[in-house]
Amino acid sequence: MTRDADCLFCKIAGGQIPADVVRETEHTLAFRDISPQAPTHVLVVPREHHRDVASLAAAAPDTLAELVRTAAAVAAGEGIEAYRLVFNTGEQAGQSVFHVHAHVLGGRAMTWPPG
Ligand code: 5GP
Repeated sequence: MTRDADCLFCKIAGGQIPADVVRETEHTLAFRDISPQAPTHVLVVPREHHRDVASLAAAAPDTLAELVRTAAAVAAGEGIEAYRLVFNTGEQAGQSVFHVHAHVLGGRAMTWPPG
């Protein structure tokens, strides 16, 4: 298991920092965003440290597939049929935590394009 001692989401995955966990699988963890931008705003992360979605896809494609299944299960568990799945990738795109995470956003109408 690769973890980064300085990484916020590694600390959440390792239980060192508390989070409102809504779903767990062997390789992924889903917890509520601390600053929700929609009625449902859940983050899904791999337990292992990977910087972004491209790194995860290259190193552990099965875990990426598991992460997407976890996101779908979170949405189903929240009772939402339509949801947005977002991987901010890179600082300019809004990534602020460099441990890959999918935002599962739903429960309200979404606009396009995103800001
Ligand atoms: P990013 O900006 O990297 O795409 O998303 C990072 C997300 O992590 C943000 O939506 C932010 O609100 C959330 N976040 C930051 N710190 C914490 C924390 O300590 N706990 C939880 N649950 N979410 C956090």
